[in-house]
Amino acid sequence: MTNTEKIFTFIDGYAESAQSLYLEAIIEVCNKWINGEETPKLSEDVTKEEIRRGVQLAVLKGMKQNAQPHHQMTPDSIGLLISHIAEKLVGEEQDITLFDPAVGTGNLLYTVMNAIGKDVTASAVEIDELLVRLSAVISELLEQPVRFLVQDALRPLLVDPVDITISDLPVGYYPDDDNGSNYEVMPVEGHAYAHHLFIEQSISHTKPGGYGIFVVPANLFETEQTVKLQPFLKKKTIIRAIIQLPSTLFQNKAHEKSILILQKPFLEEKTSPDVLLAQVPDMKDKQAMARFLQEIDIWAAEA
Ligand code: SAM
Repeated sequence: MTNTEKIFTFIDGYAESAQSLYLEAIIEVCNKWINGEETPKLSEDVTKEEIRRGVQLAVLKGMKQNAQPHHQMTPDSIGLLISHIAEKLVGEEQDITLFDPAVGTGNLLYTVMNAIGKDVTASAVEIDELLVRLSAVISELLEQPVRFLVQDALRPLLVDPVDITISDLPVGYYPDDDNGSNYEVMPVEGHAYAHHLFIEQSISHTKPGGYGIFVVPANLFETEQTVKLQPFLKKKTIIRAIIQLPSTLFQNKAHEKSILILQKPFLEEKTSPDVLLAQVPDMKDKQAMARFLQEIDIWAAEA
């Protein structure tokens, strides 16, 4: 068995026989693992990615049993692509700070932190208390330093501006119009789109020169609220890339997503570099993927 399989078997064995909810049982057994009370038998060279994947398999199983449609974990197909982009944008820089305002299980955040590797710290927000406890215990197992806030991320946040904000944004209407009206992207009538508010909130917590990498609906610029989003993006950000994800990753057209990459300009910045408009090929086609990643690398080197 691989380390990943051993970790899944260890957690699953505990969770299946526990009296509590499967996701709660994952938290319990991970705490036992951290305290050394019960541990899986792993090879000495076990990596953070093997641990993340092993725990992720158990979390996926727990999420299915719990039927949490609004809390879907970011799949590795998307997480690994975002990690590659983030890693290239970081380059040789040290002491990188990250922020995920909708961290969920943390799978996306930890994939990126593991990829960056060196001296990376993060802040994370999540409204669901169970997911924060789950995410926090996984961060401890992975020895990834993350500061968590359990709250509505669209309320004022005590988070210092970071180098890169990454997030698989919650999509849909934000019901709190009073709070929504604190944002430039709030429409004149009706509820705002939560994902638009999240983009604005994220940019205000990103350093000048820093990046925002977001998983967004593929039709982001095709809705009636685009008239509010576009002027905001033009005034406060530089759109660096829009990368369409393969439709095969999604159940139907309405759920298709893209990756939007924004940069927060320095005050004096006047020029707008070209926007990378790309389409991720069939991920099973290794040659096409290699060509696509090469295109990303060239773009990131010029960024
Ligand atoms: N990247 C995450 C992962 O790998 O597990 C998945 C993120 S999921 C697509 C979006 C998350 O946003 C959900 O966990 C949801 O609970 C959270 N969320 C929704 N509205 C929120 C809000 N107003 N403030 C904070 N978190 C929120």
